[in-house]
Amino acid sequence: MAVNKEKLAKEERCQVMVSPPDMWGAFHQHQCYNRAVVTCDGKRYCKIHSPEYIKAKGEAQNAKFKRETSMRRIQFSGHMLLAACKEALEASHNPIVEKILMEAISKAERD
Ligand SMILES: [Zn+2]
Repeated sequence: MAVNKEKLAKEERCQVMVSPPDMWGAFHQHQCYNRAVVTCDGKRYCKIHSPEYIKAKGEAQNAKFKRETSMRRIQFSGHMLLAACKEALEASHNPIVEKILMEAISKAERD
Protein backbone atom coordinates (compact mmCIF):
# COMPACT_ATOMS: atom_id res chain seq x y z
CA MET A 1 0.00 0.00 0.00
CA ALA A 2 1.80 3.11 -1.22
CA VAL A 3 1.10 6.32 0.65
CA ASN A 4 1.87 9.71 -0.81
CA LYS A 5 3.53 11.16 2.26
CA GLU A 6 3.45 14.71 0.92
CA LYS A 7 -0.35 14.57 1.19
CA LEU A 8 -0.22 14.27 4.96
CA ALA A 9 -1.24 17.52 6.62
CA LYS A 10 1.63 19.44 8.20
CA GLU A 11 0.02 18.84 11.61
CA GLU A 12 0.15 15.05 11.12
CA ARG A 13 3.82 15.07 10.15
CA CYS A 14 7.05 14.81 12.07
CA GLN A 15 8.36 18.32 12.92
CA VAL A 16 12.04 17.63 12.22
CA MET A 17 13.57 19.69 9.40
CA VAL A 18 15.44 17.46 6.94
CA SER A 19 17.79 18.11 4.01
CA PRO A 20 17.46 16.38 0.64
CA PRO A 21 20.53 14.14 0.06
CA ASP A 22 21.92 16.18 -2.85
CA MET A 23 24.85 18.63 -2.69
CA TRP A 24 22.58 21.67 -2.20
CA GLY A 25 20.34 19.83 0.25
CA ALA A 26 21.37 21.99 3.21
CA PHE A 27 19.85 25.00 1.42
CA HIS A 28 16.54 23.25 0.71
CA GLN A 29 15.47 21.93 4.09
CA HIS A 30 11.85 20.89 4.51
CA GLN A 31 9.68 19.44 7.21
CA CYS A 32 9.97 15.62 7.37
CA TYR A 33 7.21 13.97 5.27
CA ASN A 34 6.78 11.01 7.64
CA ARG A 35 3.74 10.60 9.83
CA ALA A 36 4.34 11.62 13.45
CA VAL A 37 4.00 8.67 15.81
CA VAL A 38 5.34 10.09 19.09
CA THR A 39 5.34 13.45 20.85
CA CYS A 40 8.31 14.40 22.99
CA ASP A 41 8.62 17.76 24.81
CA GLY A 42 5.71 19.08 22.77
CA LYS A 43 7.29 18.22 19.41
CA ARG A 44 6.00 15.52 17.03
CA TYR A 45 8.38 12.88 15.69
CA CYS A 46 8.17 10.04 13.18
CA LYS A 47 9.71 6.66 14.09
CA ILE A 48 13.20 7.35 12.72
CA HIS A 49 13.49 10.87 14.17
CA SER A 50 12.14 10.08 17.62
CA PRO A 51 14.70 10.88 20.35
CA GLU A 52 14.27 7.35 21.78
CA TYR A 53 15.04 5.73 18.41
CA ILE A 54 18.07 7.97 17.82
CA LYS A 55 19.37 7.23 21.31
CA ALA A 56 18.91 3.45 20.86
CA LYS A 57 20.60 3.60 17.45
CA GLY A 58 23.57 5.52 18.92
CA GLU A 59 23.90 3.00 21.75
CA ALA A 60 23.81 0.09 19.28
CA GLN A 61 26.54 1.75 17.19
CA ASN A 62 28.66 2.34 20.31
CA ALA A 63 28.27 -1.28 21.36
CA LYS A 64 29.27 -2.45 17.85
CA PHE A 65 32.32 -0.15 17.88
CA LYS A 66 33.37 -1.49 21.31
CA ARG A 67 32.99 -5.11 20.13
CA GLU A 68 35.06 -4.47 17.01
CA THR A 69 37.76 -2.58 18.93
CA SER A 70 37.99 -5.38 21.45
CA MET A 71 38.28 -8.00 18.64
CA ARG A 72 41.07 -6.00 16.98
CA ARG A 73 42.91 -5.75 20.33
CA ILE A 74 42.64 -9.52 20.84
CA GLN A 75 43.93 -10.19 17.31
CA PHE A 76 46.82 -7.75 17.81
CA SER A 77 47.73 -9.38 21.13
CA GLY A 78 47.67 -12.77 19.43
CA HIS A 79 50.07 -11.59 16.71
CA MET A 80 52.41 -10.06 19.30
CA LEU A 81 52.41 -13.25 21.41
CA LEU A 82 53.10 -15.41 18.37
CA ALA A 83 56.03 -13.19 17.34
CA ALA A 84 57.39 -13.30 20.91
CA CYS A 85 57.11 -17.11 20.97
CA LYS A 86 59.05 -17.35 17.69
CA GLU A 87 61.81 -15.08 19.03
CA ALA A 88 61.96 -17.02 22.29
CA LEU A 89 62.21 -20.30 20.34
CA GLU A 90 65.21 -18.99 18.36
CA ALA A 91 66.93 -17.77 21.51
CA SER A 92 66.13 -20.86 23.57
CA HIS A 93 68.70 -23.51 24.49
CA ASN A 94 66.31 -25.53 26.59
CA PRO A 95 64.67 -28.53 24.86
CA ILE A 96 61.66 -28.52 27.19
CA VAL A 97 61.02 -24.79 26.56
CA GLU A 98 61.51 -25.33 22.80
CA LYS A 99 58.96 -28.17 22.79
CA ILE A 100 56.40 -26.03 24.63
CA LEU A 101 57.00 -23.07 22.28
CA MET A 102 56.83 -25.21 19.11
CA GLU A 103 53.53 -26.70 20.23
CA ALA A 104 52.12 -23.27 21.05
CA ILE A 105 53.29 -21.80 17.72
CA SER A 106 51.93 -24.66 15.63
CA LYS A 107 48.60 -24.49 17.46
CA ALA A 108 48.40 -20.68 17.04
CA GLU A 109 49.19 -20.90 13.33
CA ARG A 110 46.60 -23.64 12.84
CA ASP A 111 43.74 -21.65 14.49
ZN1 LIG B 1 10.75 12.47 10.71
